[in-house]
Amino acid sequence: MMRQFELVERVKAYDPTADEDLINRAYVYAMKMHGSQKRASGDPYFSHPIEVAGILTNYKLDSASIVTALLHDIVEDTLATLDDVRKLFGDEVARLVDGVTKLAKIHLQNIETKQAENFRKFLLAMSEDIRVLVVKLADRLHNMRTLQHIADPAKRRTIALETMEIYAPLAERIGIQEIKTELEDLAFSQLHPDARVSILNRLKYLELHGGDLVGKIMDELDQLIRGVGLTGYISGREKTPYSIWRKMQIKEVSFEQLSDIMAFRIILETVEDCYRVLGLIHTRYPMVPGRFKDYISTPKRNGYRSIHTAVIGPQRQRIEIQLRTHAMHEIAELGVAAHWQYKQGLGVVEGKQYNWLRELLDILESAQSPQEFLEHTKLEMFQDQVFCFSPKGDLIALPRGAGPVDFAYAVHSEVGDTCVGAKVNGRIVPLRTRLQNGDQVEIMTSKAQRPSPEWEAFVVTGKARAHIRRWIRQEARAEFSKLGQDIVEKAFQKEGYELTKKALALALEKFALPNLDDLYVRVGEGRLSGRQVFLAVYPGARTEKDDNIVNLSQARVKQAGENAALPAVPIKGLTPGLAVHLSECCHPLPGDRIVGIAHPGKGIEVHTIDCEKLVDFSEEPDRWVDLAWDFERNTGMSLGRLNLTVANEPGALGSLSTVIARNHGNISNLKFTKRSADFFDMIVDIEVADVKHLANIVAALRATPSINAVDRARG
Ligand code: MN
Repeated sequence: MMRQFELVERVKAYDPTADEDLINRAYVYAMKMHGSQKRASGDPYFSHPIEVAGILTNYKLDSASIVTALLHDIVEDTLATLDDVRKLFGDEVARLVDGVTKLAKIHLQNIETKQAENFRKFLLAMSEDIRVLVVKLADRLHNMRTLQHIADPAKRRTIALETMEIYAPLAERIGIQEIKTELEDLAFSQLHPDARVSILNRLKYLELHGGDLVGKIMDELDQLIRGVGLTGYISGREKTPYSIWRKMQIKEVSFEQLSDIMAFRIILETVEDCYRVLGLIHTRYPMVPGRFKDYISTPKRNGYRSIHTAVIGPQRQRIEIQLRTHAMHEIAELGVAAHWQYKQGLGVVEGKQYNWLRELLDILESAQSPQEFLEHTKLEMFQDQVFCFSPKGDLIALPRGAGPVDFAYAVHSEVGDTCVGAKVNGRIVPLRTRLQNGDQVEIMTSKAQRPSPEWEAFVVTGKARAHIRRWIRQEARAEFSKLGQDIVEKAFQKEGYELTKKALALALEKFALPNLDDLYVRVGEGRLSGRQVFLAVYPGARTEKDDNIVNLSQARVKQAGENAALPAVPIKGLTPGLAVHLSECCHPLPGDRIVGIAHPGKGIEVHTIDCEKLVDFSEEPDRWVDLAWDFERNTGMSLGRLNLTVANEPGALGSLSTVIARNHGNISNLKFTKRSADFFDMIVDIEVADVKHLANIVAALRATPSINAVDRARG
């Protein structure tokens, strides 16, 4: 176990300004609080935080990180509270310790590939300060190094799996290659011990039979570089058992076929040198196609830069070669941790490609307030996301600002559609609540529930929005469909036809519509009229305008054109010369209360005040003209229109015309609108003097036995 002064010396070695007192106090405090606690290995528990702190000194971390490592298990495993830590060590350390403690509490129940990726993002987002994650990785590294002391094989396996799926990729993500490689190898030896042993044996065999291949190849590469007057640092190694094993898995090749098990790294002074040496290597040795990658011109997202190539090397072996500068090398090995070295002036981050890293480093140094620090050091790319858990422990990533409804739709669209409420961390919350990182969300559903249009105001995910809109559309559609059905039924009724399935099928065919619902919706939305549907089925049926004129020999039917015999319209107060005509919908009669509707270019159309047509002009009061009859001028006859229902029996039509004639009316037009076995519905136009005259005729008709109903037409 590292002694107190050793730890301080190691930190002082790379950071002479480190807060010695803070580290000393943390060391003593942690030792006191962990007291006699023991690890599974039997070692005092306190050895663990000291080792973790020791690992961090390899990466030259600042004193706050070292202190955090010393205290990282203290809140979770001892009587000490976060407040104690804050009082004794200040806000910065308390915040870091809190961050590591939070991370420690979160585990994925099922590590599936999809979940693992989300979980990694979640841990990054939760590690509001990148140092939290670095401490966590060192913690995991030490736990993996001592994994063999845990007795329960299932527990060992779970930890190893989590390391492989979550923490090794995270170490790679923030660029700490060393930790990534060691974590992978430790996890590999736990998860696939047999495979690892056989790969190691195979490597040993090759070494015995081939001699020191790595050394020979390094010599040759060295001569090559010196030959052109460059100096470089060359290292060579056999690949780790895990990377060999993975290659065998991915490429499905056997160990024998897997020839490039050696990798060499050449570290040079400048970028130009890298490309120059690359040229030399490709000239001297045959290049293996498809393996060349230039991460100098196009760095990886974590800031990694290098040139990778594979060639058939000096010993006829396939070898992998990486070329990079010293600065690139430090970034590659230490990643974010390299920051603390640059701070000491040990190196310079070069090139624009390191922007993300440089920004992170700048922020770490320049943030003024804790809030600002917190705000900025969340890794930028995850700032727009929140990660929440289902009750089963599934992790769901949502855009920032998302609420329970978004969560519900992310789980399943049916869950979203039937969502009635939500519990967040066990408490019922309004559906418009915004979710926070790490919230556990339970959606309450009811089969009777339907999406509410109001949800649209607060959901942020496209999926939720799309489902809510679709549902609103469906609702509206159902209403239009019902309305359309009514309209079509009435249209057929009006024409005296039954709305049969056959008729509807015909209409669908005519309009090329797939189903009845579509037809009704079109009518409901006004894109088709009921009458159009009717005419599609019965194109031969006559419309009101061209009705069959029934010639009744008994009636005095006017042969001349409809309006030809009518006198000039006897209406007062009109501008002379203005065209005026009585509307054909309601046939106003002198004595009716009337109103005029102006039709630009056509004059004024006169309607009775109760004509149904007037509704069409209700939005245009400007077009309404006040009118009155000029009784003194009314010397002629006007046309009145009646709707009649007459019994279908011999003599009925005869008595109709007789009654009208007897009352000095003159039938000018007559048409049937409906014929059934028992009744005729018809419209009869009668020339009368005025409204009183027509009223007399109506009264007389109502008294006639074979006439069932008489009404004035109203538009
Ligand atoms: Mn720990």
